Amino acid sequence: MATPVRLVKLKCPRCAASHWVVDNDFRGLGLLGQRELDYDERAYHCPQCGEGGSGFQVQKKTPVALTLRAHWLFEILARHLGARRNR
Ligand SMILES: [Zn+2]
Repeated sequence: MATPVRLVKLKCPRCAASHWVVDNDFRGLGLLGQRELDYDERAYHCPQCGEGGSGFQVQKKTPVALTLRAHWLFEILARHLGARRNR
């Protein structure tokens, strides 16, 4: 099954830096009878201050357009955007 992925821009609750992650709105928990987590309930890791955990705020989302086959492209793009932002 193809899973649509997005680039999501998250704001760190501790240092307020933003970074991009590759994620999708539905991680398949619904199929297991569990509630899908909202982005601010999910655990992420901040590359700026090393904060890990939940509470990250979504600032931007790219449209769902690509499938897992393009996942590697998203990874590269996310890394690229992150590198440019942190300069
Ligand atoms: Zn941070």
